[in-house]
Amino acid sequence: MDYERKGYPELIVDLNKLRSNITQVVRRCDEIGIEIAGVIKGCNGLIPCAEQFYRAGCRWIASSRLDQLAPLKDAGIQAELMMIRIPMITEAEDVVRICDYSLNSEISVIRELNKFAGKHDKIHNIILMADCGDLREGYWDKDEMADVAVMIEHEMHNLHLAGVGVNVGCYGSVQPTKEKLQELVDIAEVIEDRIGRELEIISGGATSSFMRVIDGDMPARINMLRVGEGVLLSYDLKVLYGYDLPYMHTDTFRLRAEVVEVKDKPSHPVGEIGFDAFGHKIEYVDRGIRRRAVLGIGKVDYGDPSELIPEMDGIEVLGASSDHTLLDIQDIVDKGGDLRVGDIVEFKVNYAMMVYLTNSPNVAKVYI
Ligand SMILES: *Cc1c(COP(=O)(O)O)cnc(C)c1O
Repeated sequence: MDYERKGYPELIVDLNKLRSNITQVVRRCDEIGIEIAGVIKGCNGLIPCAEQFYRAGCRWIASSRLDQLAPLKDAGIQAELMMIRIPMITEAEDVVRICDYSLNSEISVIRELNKFAGKHDKIHNIILMADCGDLREGYWDKDEMADVAVMIEHEMHNLHLAGVGVNVGCYGSVQPTKEKLQELVDIAEVIEDRIGRELEIISGGATSSFMRVIDGDMPARINMLRVGEGVLLSYDLKVLYGYDLPYMHTDTFRLRAEVVEVKDKPSHPVGEIGFDAFGHKIEYVDRGIRRRAVLGIGKVDYGDPSELIPEMDGIEVLGASSDHTLLDIQDIVDKGGDLRVGDIVEFKVNYAMMVYLTNSPNVAKVYI
């Protein structure tokens, strides 16, 4: 039996808007001597998206997952590849085979990287991560960090200590203030004193650090940012932090799903109430008989239905199970409209949804 998925649900990916977003950030950073690592994990490393990062001038393509980086060179993407989730010790050999750079914070892993870089006759570039308070990865003890830097510099002949980096705004919600990023520069300078040379790279964080570029108060020596969300969706800086960025597109990704049932039904379930498909106890509100539509897409494809934002007015997302999404469309009916079986409903895409949708084989990717 031949079966090839086509049609709906579909994720529309506007590659020109994506490339335009990346170009805007690359250009603004370039003006103050900052190079960009384009982070492709948010879109599951979709190759047509990765290509836009490369074409727009990112020096590095970066991901938290090796499987997203592994196919890029064969796809003609000549950027340097960077692993940005500190590597598992069990994947050290693949890290040096696939990537030119990795972010690190454990000496045992760094030793393995050195060993395998030797085996494959490579020099692998290390960026040591400092934890400046966000409490995810990185050295908390900066003396230990400097000691490791010295060991890499003098003892690990198949590694090159390229620089240092920090991550903020991930676990601890710590903001990349000017002072916070200066802390990283200070750490870099302590290490430089110890090894007796300049570090090439001081990697000052992710999308949120682009705020310092916009505000013009980035510490002078920060020269790399690792940017994903800010160009894929451009949501956080605009909506969470209130920056007006008229040059950034926010509709690079759009979701379209198909209506598979439309009926008038009670709004409160009828029968003894137990648990829903995911084992949760739900409170249902009785609003009488309402027009409902069912979509052929579900939690497996996008995650959390409460994050679905319909483009069309008058649609309320009621909930979902693995493969069905339920809409209340009574407000559309009250205004003289309706939905029919086979109609397409469009939604905005946020970061969590983008991660799920790009990873779902049930969702067609349509590049425009
Ligand atoms: C995910 C990640 C990034 C990119 O973050 P965005 O907010 O998507 O720009 C940068 N650095 C590291 C270490 C990451 O894990």
